[in-house]
Amino acid sequence: VCVCVCVCVCSLKHVLNASTCREAGGADIRVLIVTAHPDDECMFFAPTIIQLVELHASVHLLCLSQGNYYNKGAQRKQELLNSCAVLGIPDSRITIVNQKNLPDDPKAQWKVSVVSSVIMKHIRAHSFNMVLTFDGRGVSGHANHIAIHKALTLSLSVLIDCCFLSLVTVGFLRKYISFLELPLSCLLPSCLCCCTGLQGYRRARVSVDTAGKDV
Ligand SMILES: [Zn+2]
Repeated sequence: VCVCVCVCVCSLKHVLNASTCREAGGADIRVLIVTAHPDDECMFFAPTIIQLVELHASVHLLCLSQGNYYNKGAQRKQELLNSCAVLGIPDSRITIVNQKNLPDDPKAQWKVSVVSSVIMKHIRAHSFNMVLTFDGRGVSGHANHIAIHKALTLSLSVLIDCCFLSLVTVGFLRKYISFLELPLSCLLPSCLCCCTGLQGYRRARVSVDTAGKDV
Protein backbone atom coordinates (compact mmCIF):
# COMPACT_ATOMS: atom_id res chain seq x y z
CA VAL A 1 0.00 0.00 0.00
CA CYS A 2 2.82 2.32 0.85
CA VAL A 3 4.24 2.24 -2.65
CA CYS A 4 0.84 2.90 -4.14
CA VAL A 5 0.33 5.84 -1.85
CA CYS A 6 3.64 7.31 -2.80
CA VAL A 7 3.17 7.06 -6.51
CA CYS A 8 0.14 9.29 -6.28
CA VAL A 9 1.60 12.23 -4.45
CA CYS A 10 2.09 15.75 -5.63
CA SER A 11 2.83 19.14 -4.13
CA LEU A 12 1.43 22.46 -5.10
CA LYS A 13 3.22 25.67 -4.45
CA HIS A 14 1.23 28.51 -3.12
CA VAL A 15 1.45 31.78 -4.98
CA LEU A 16 -1.24 34.04 -3.59
CA ASN A 17 -3.87 34.26 -0.87
CA ALA A 18 -2.90 31.31 1.33
CA SER A 19 -5.59 32.20 3.84
CA THR A 20 -8.28 31.65 1.23
CA CYS A 21 -7.09 28.07 0.76
CA ARG A 22 -6.84 27.28 4.44
CA GLU A 23 -10.18 28.79 5.32
CA ALA A 24 -12.10 27.13 2.52
CA GLY A 25 -13.69 23.86 3.60
CA GLY A 26 -13.93 21.15 0.94
CA ALA A 27 -17.56 21.85 0.09
CA ASP A 28 -16.82 25.56 -0.23
CA ILE A 29 -14.03 25.11 -2.75
CA ARG A 30 -14.83 25.92 -6.34
CA VAL A 31 -11.64 24.96 -8.07
CA LEU A 32 -10.55 25.36 -11.66
CA ILE A 33 -7.74 23.21 -12.98
CA VAL A 34 -6.17 24.76 -16.07
CA THR A 35 -4.32 22.44 -18.44
CA ALA A 36 -2.95 22.72 -21.97
CA HIS A 37 -3.72 19.31 -23.50
CA PRO A 38 -5.87 16.21 -23.01
CA ASP A 39 -3.87 13.79 -20.76
CA ASP A 40 -2.49 16.60 -18.61
CA GLU A 41 -5.34 16.18 -16.15
CA CYS A 42 -4.51 12.52 -15.42
CA MET A 43 -0.75 12.57 -16.07
CA PHE A 44 -0.09 15.49 -13.71
CA PHE A 45 -3.16 16.35 -11.64
CA ALA A 46 -4.81 13.00 -10.86
CA PRO A 47 -3.94 12.89 -7.12
CA THR A 48 -5.05 16.50 -6.70
CA ILE A 49 -8.34 15.97 -8.53
CA ILE A 50 -9.09 12.74 -6.68
CA GLN A 51 -8.44 14.31 -3.29
CA LEU A 52 -10.45 17.46 -4.04
CA VAL A 53 -13.38 15.39 -5.30
CA GLU A 54 -13.21 13.30 -2.12
CA LEU A 55 -13.42 16.56 -0.14
CA HIS A 56 -16.62 17.36 -2.07
CA ALA A 57 -15.03 20.37 -3.74
CA SER A 58 -16.60 21.53 -6.99
CA VAL A 59 -13.84 20.61 -9.43
CA HIS A 60 -13.83 22.06 -12.96
CA LEU A 61 -11.34 21.66 -15.80
CA LEU A 62 -10.34 24.15 -18.47
CA CYS A 63 -8.15 22.59 -21.17
CA LEU A 64 -6.75 25.14 -23.58
CA SER A 65 -6.41 22.85 -26.61
CA GLN A 66 -7.88 19.70 -28.07
CA GLY A 67 -4.41 18.16 -28.31
CA ASN A 68 -4.39 18.15 -32.07
CA TYR A 69 -0.63 17.89 -32.59
CA TYR A 70 -0.99 14.51 -34.33
CA ASN A 71 -4.35 15.43 -35.90
CA LYS A 72 -6.19 13.36 -33.32
CA GLY A 73 -8.01 16.23 -31.65
CA ALA A 74 -11.50 14.71 -31.74
CA GLN A 75 -10.24 11.42 -30.33
CA ARG A 76 -8.22 13.06 -27.59
CA LYS A 77 -11.14 15.29 -26.66
CA GLN A 78 -13.26 12.21 -26.03
CA GLU A 79 -10.42 10.56 -24.13
CA LEU A 80 -10.21 13.60 -21.89
CA LEU A 81 -13.92 13.37 -21.11
CA ASN A 82 -13.54 9.66 -20.33
CA SER A 83 -10.48 10.26 -18.16
CA CYS A 84 -12.26 13.00 -16.21
CA ALA A 85 -15.28 10.75 -15.66
CA VAL A 86 -12.96 8.27 -13.94
CA LEU A 87 -11.41 11.02 -11.84
CA GLY A 88 -14.80 12.39 -10.81
CA ILE A 89 -15.25 15.47 -13.03
CA PRO A 90 -18.53 15.37 -14.99
CA ASP A 91 -18.73 16.60 -18.60
CA SER A 92 -20.72 19.65 -17.49
CA ARG A 93 -17.68 20.95 -15.60
CA ILE A 94 -15.23 20.53 -18.47
CA THR A 95 -14.39 23.20 -21.05
CA ILE A 96 -12.10 22.36 -23.94
CA VAL A 97 -10.87 25.34 -25.93
CA ASN A 98 -10.31 24.99 -29.66
CA GLN A 99 -8.66 28.16 -30.96
CA LYS A 100 -6.20 28.40 -33.84
CA ASN A 101 -4.02 30.79 -31.87
CA LEU A 102 -3.63 28.17 -29.10
CA PRO A 103 -2.29 25.17 -31.01
CA ASP A 104 -1.02 22.01 -29.33
CA ASP A 105 2.60 22.51 -30.28
CA PRO A 106 5.71 22.66 -28.08
CA LYS A 107 7.29 25.06 -30.61
CA ALA A 108 4.34 27.45 -30.60
CA GLN A 109 4.66 30.35 -28.18
CA TRP A 110 1.15 30.99 -26.92
CA LYS A 111 0.54 34.70 -26.48
CA VAL A 112 0.22 35.46 -22.79
CA SER A 113 -2.51 38.02 -23.47
CA VAL A 114 -4.61 35.43 -25.34
CA VAL A 115 -4.15 32.76 -22.66
CA SER A 116 -4.88 35.23 -19.89
CA SER A 117 -8.04 36.47 -21.61
CA VAL A 118 -9.46 32.95 -22.02
CA ILE A 119 -8.69 31.92 -18.44
CA MET A 120 -9.85 35.12 -16.76
CA LYS A 121 -13.11 35.10 -18.67
CA HIS A 122 -13.74 31.55 -17.45
CA ILE A 123 -12.82 32.36 -13.83
CA ARG A 124 -15.13 35.37 -13.75
CA ALA A 125 -18.01 33.43 -15.33
CA HIS A 126 -17.87 30.69 -12.71
CA SER A 127 -16.64 32.53 -9.57
CA PHE A 128 -13.86 30.10 -8.73
CA ASN A 129 -12.04 30.57 -5.43
CA MET A 130 -9.11 28.32 -6.29
CA VAL A 131 -7.10 27.90 -9.49
CA LEU A 132 -4.51 25.17 -10.08
CA THR A 133 -2.09 24.91 -12.96
CA PHE A 134 1.54 24.22 -13.82
CA ASP A 135 4.44 26.09 -12.29
CA GLY A 136 6.98 28.18 -14.19
CA ARG A 137 8.87 25.11 -15.38
CA GLY A 138 5.74 23.48 -16.73
CA VAL A 139 6.24 20.14 -14.91
CA SER A 140 7.25 18.46 -18.19
CA GLY A 141 8.85 21.60 -19.61
CA HIS A 142 6.25 21.94 -22.38
CA ALA A 143 6.08 25.51 -23.68
CA ASN A 144 2.25 25.50 -23.63
CA HIS A 145 2.24 24.58 -19.92
CA ILE A 146 4.70 27.37 -19.13
CA ALA A 147 2.59 29.88 -21.08
CA ILE A 148 -0.40 29.14 -18.82
CA HIS A 149 1.66 29.77 -15.69
CA LYS A 150 2.98 33.05 -17.13
CA ALA A 151 -0.50 34.21 -18.05
CA LEU A 152 -1.95 33.44 -14.63
CA THR A 153 0.97 34.99 -12.79
CA LEU A 154 0.50 38.23 -14.72
CA SER A 155 -3.25 38.22 -14.01
CA LEU A 156 -2.99 37.58 -10.27
CA SER A 157 -3.48 41.21 -9.26
CA VAL A 158 -7.07 41.20 -10.50
CA LEU A 159 -7.96 37.87 -8.91
CA ILE A 160 -9.77 38.77 -5.70
CA ASP A 161 -10.62 36.06 -3.15
CA CYS A 162 -9.07 33.44 -5.37
CA CYS A 163 -6.21 31.17 -4.37
CA PHE A 164 -3.67 30.37 -7.09
CA LEU A 165 -1.67 27.15 -6.77
CA SER A 166 0.93 25.75 -9.11
CA LEU A 167 2.07 22.15 -9.39
CA VAL A 168 5.70 21.81 -8.36
CA THR A 169 8.08 20.58 -11.05
CA VAL A 170 10.42 17.95 -9.63
CA GLY A 171 13.70 16.73 -11.07
CA PHE A 172 14.25 13.46 -12.91
CA LEU A 173 15.44 11.64 -9.79
CA ARG A 174 12.42 12.56 -7.66
CA LYS A 175 10.07 11.44 -10.41
CA TYR A 176 11.35 7.88 -10.20
CA ILE A 177 12.28 7.23 -6.56
CA SER A 178 8.85 5.75 -5.87
CA PHE A 179 7.91 5.60 -2.18
CA LEU A 180 10.94 7.67 -1.15
CA GLU A 181 9.19 10.65 -2.70
CA LEU A 182 6.46 10.60 -0.05
CA PRO A 183 8.48 12.01 2.90
CA LEU A 184 10.14 14.52 0.61
CA SER A 185 6.82 15.86 -0.68
CA CYS A 186 5.39 15.97 2.82
CA LEU A 187 8.39 17.66 4.38
CA LEU A 188 9.22 20.23 1.73
CA PRO A 189 7.24 23.47 1.99
CA SER A 190 4.04 23.51 -0.05
CA CYS A 191 0.54 24.89 0.37
CA LEU A 192 -1.23 21.68 -0.49
CA CYS A 193 0.18 18.17 -0.66
CA CYS A 194 -2.20 15.59 -2.13
CA CYS A 195 -1.63 11.94 -1.39
CA THR A 196 -4.06 9.20 -2.33
CA GLY A 197 -4.50 5.67 -1.01
CA LEU A 198 -4.71 2.41 -2.90
CA GLN A 199 -8.19 3.13 -4.24
CA GLY A 200 -7.11 6.58 -5.47
CA TYR A 201 -3.98 5.11 -7.02
CA ARG A 202 -6.05 2.57 -8.93
CA ARG A 203 -8.42 5.29 -10.11
CA ALA A 204 -5.49 7.41 -11.29
CA ARG A 205 -4.07 4.46 -13.23
CA VAL A 206 -7.44 3.78 -14.86
CA SER A 207 -7.76 7.45 -15.84
CA VAL A 208 -4.33 7.34 -17.51
CA ASP A 209 -5.21 4.13 -19.33
CA THR A 210 -8.53 5.63 -20.37
CA ALA A 211 -6.85 8.72 -21.73
CA GLY A 212 -4.42 6.72 -23.86
CA LYS A 213 -0.67 6.97 -23.87
CA ASP A 214 -0.09 9.85 -26.29
CA VAL A 215 1.16 13.01 -24.55
ZN1 LIG B 1 0.43 18.95 -21.80
